[in-house]
Amino acid sequence: MTRRAIVAANWKMNGDSALVNTMVSGLNNVELQDNVNVVICPSAPYLSALVVKAKEDKLNAAISIGAQNVSEHDNGAFTGEISTKMLQELSVEFVIIGHSERRCLYHETSTQAAHKVKAALNAGLTPILCIGESEAERATEQTETVLASQLQPVIDEVGIEKFIDVVIAYEPVWAIGTGKTASSEMAQETHQFIRQFLAKANENVAAKVPLLYGGSVNASNCEELFAQPDIDGGLIGGASLHVEQFKVICSAAK
Ligand code: PGA
Repeated sequence: MTRRAIVAANWKMNGDSALVNTMVSGLNNVELQDNVNVVICPSAPYLSALVVKAKEDKLNAAISIGAQNVSEHDNGAFTGEISTKMLQELSVEFVIIGHSERRCLYHETSTQAAHKVKAALNAGLTPILCIGESEAERATEQTETVLASQLQPVIDEVGIEKFIDVVIAYEPVWAIGTGKTASSEMAQETHQFIRQFLAKANENVAAKVPLLYGGSVNASNCEELFAQPDIDGGLIGGASLHVEQFKVICSAAK
């Protein structure tokens, strides 16, 4: 079946106004397959400028804007946090949730990720839910247990039917920003496990959820990764800061 494919740029705490401008101009003539969406997720201070620039330049409608995090709360005394409503007001359509840097550095739990996915869905935002195992967990053959423990709380919180509006990014923690990509066989095997895990709850939904691979994806390895049957695009960190490299990755998605 043809699933929606997505290439999402996670700028993390990088980029500036100049990158907002060069990225929008650069992506104006990017060639995308019909089922491909591109999502740019800059740091929060640049969301507004990106939305404005995309509108001004009449950026391809297949290119959307996403945030890197969101609060599970609607409003209130949560210094430094951003609500779903604020993102909605900015016309942001996607939000990355549960990135391993949030989990490792800021101790976000899978329960919190589940609450955030719920808040995002309630606001009409598409969550890009990140899951992935550490190097030690893979070495001790706990990958599947870890992934299941990251997915199950979200399924319990929102219900499997709602996953029709969720994007999942599988990012092995040991492959993020390290230049060590999972081999395409290993990535496919893990993606297949994720799809089968979802299928145990609902086969129809599982067949439709876009599963992105993330972790040192670049212009040279993207084609082989995206050729795998259960890999529906990627979540791109470092390489998404370089317009020409990122365009190659976007064009490789199918
Ligand atoms: P990377 O990051 O492409 O730089 O490895 C991916 C991510 O963390 O989303």
